[in-house]
Amino acid sequence: MKKFDVVIIGGGPAGSASGALLAQAGKSVLIVEREKFPRFHIGESLIPFGNDVLREMGVWEKLERAGFMTKKGAEFTLSNSCGFQRFWFRNNLGPEHAQTFQVERAPFDSLLLDHAREKGCAVSQPASIQSADFLEESVDLQIKSEEGSETIRASYVIDASGREAWVGKKLSLPKSDLGLSKKMAIYAHFENAYRNEGEAAGHITIIRMEQGWFWMIPLNEKKTSVGVVWEQEKLKATGTCLEERFWTMIRSSKEASFRLKEATLLGDFHATTDYSYRYHQNAGSRWLMVGDSAGFVDPIFSSGVMIALRSGRLAAETILKQASYAPLSLRTQKKYTAKIHQMTGVFLKMIELFYDNDAFAVFMNPRSIFKLRETINRLVAGQTEMNASLRWRFRLFRFLSWLQKRFPVAPRLVFSE
Ligand SMILES: Cc1cc2nc3c(=O)[nH]c(=O)nc-3n(C[C@H](O)[C@H](O)[C@H](O)COP(=O)(O)OP(=O)(O)OC[C@H]3O[C@@H](n4cnc5c(N)ncnc54)[C@H](O)[C@@H]3O)c2cc1C
Repeated sequence: MKKFDVVIIGGGPAGSASGALLAQAGKSVLIVEREKFPRFHIGESLIPFGNDVLREMGVWEKLERAGFMTKKGAEFTLSNSCGFQRFWFRNNLGPEHAQTFQVERAPFDSLLLDHAREKGCAVSQPASIQSADFLEESVDLQIKSEEGSETIRASYVIDASGREAWVGKKLSLPKSDLGLSKKMAIYAHFENAYRNEGEAAGHITIIRMEQGWFWMIPLNEKKTSVGVVWEQEKLKATGTCLEERFWTMIRSSKEASFRLKEATLLGDFHATTDYSYRYHQNAGSRWLMVGDSAGFVDPIFSSGVMIALRSGRLAAETILKQASYAPLSLRTQKKYTAKIHQMTGVFLKMIELFYDNDAFAVFMNPRSIFKLRETINRLVAGQTEMNASLRWRFRLFRFLSWLQKRFPVAPRLVFSE
């Protein structure tokens, strides 16, 4: 039987990050990826606090050379074109976080997985995990590939299978829907959508409707990713097929119609529904969940890939600290879970504020007092590890959002078209 220190289920950003970092540290790693790459995947706008992991993996220069679009900030506007806020990461963050990339996931994920392979990971692809026996000393996994089935023994398993959440499902672990309503996203790529000028050409644009929102992500000189997100039942009621629903929503917004006036559709529409959840426990004695397999929060703040990369690194660090391939103690499992929950928890609070029209009014009019604008900029960039000052200012932002409901501290937003 073949043996590896670590078997990783899934070769997305989370799997490649943990794989590359473990192989770099001398561990024997097998990544099992179900699909042939390159393949389409949603999740195209990165945020700067994922940069550190890409640098530690040694892949940053490759990304620069690959010609991905540079992203220097984010902007938010209302669907009727009223109200506009543009954030530049460089205004409050150091050079290492001043910019990041917008990425088409097919080449991005291939590049990361190839990099993990170059660092020493074995990659079985296309292949999938059929079963796993979690034993005291190891995990025995049945893997099926084009060559047939084989059993592999691993000291640890990292579940990087995305929203498939292989280990969570296999072990029937409890999870929560985080109290967020069931959402649906419909998205596609377009050519010749409206582009900002100058350095803001690579900004993500979020267009906020009274309830849902659109994203516009420039992927290269011509191609733009466009998506609409709304409550599942309401979005379904706008048409009989994805295309009709998408265009009904675009037509309902002055800003979105303007930006897609000259655009042509490339390829097909895609949709994802009901995606928010979080497993209560993210590690066991011989397994760790990373990225979406641990949980997924609404994509409004483009946090998914950053969390995938940072949790991938955390899983690698946790395994590297284990002496003599010992099982993860209960304390280590709890600490690991707490760190993952803390990361997603910050975004969860931001998401609640984003969908609250009073809080969003404060977001759209950040006062320079108490460094509120800087606070929002840092959160939009993905700074989830908060020092006392940032924590205090985030609390103040939430207090002002609460106050807005009673005594407006910012002009109320008007959504009528
Ligand atoms: C509508 C929408 C918009 C989004 N927008 C953004 C955004 O703008 N920015 C952002 O950062 N994030 C965004 N995300 C989130 C982002 O897509 C994910 O958070 C990110 O891809 C997570 O990476 P991952 O490596 O955990 O999982 P994935 O990228 O999903 O990778 C998992 C891999 O595991 C493989 N796999 C699954 N099951 C098995 C198995 N049994 N055996 C072997 N392999 C398996 C899959 O084939 C896949 O390649 C968005 C998500 C949605 C739904």
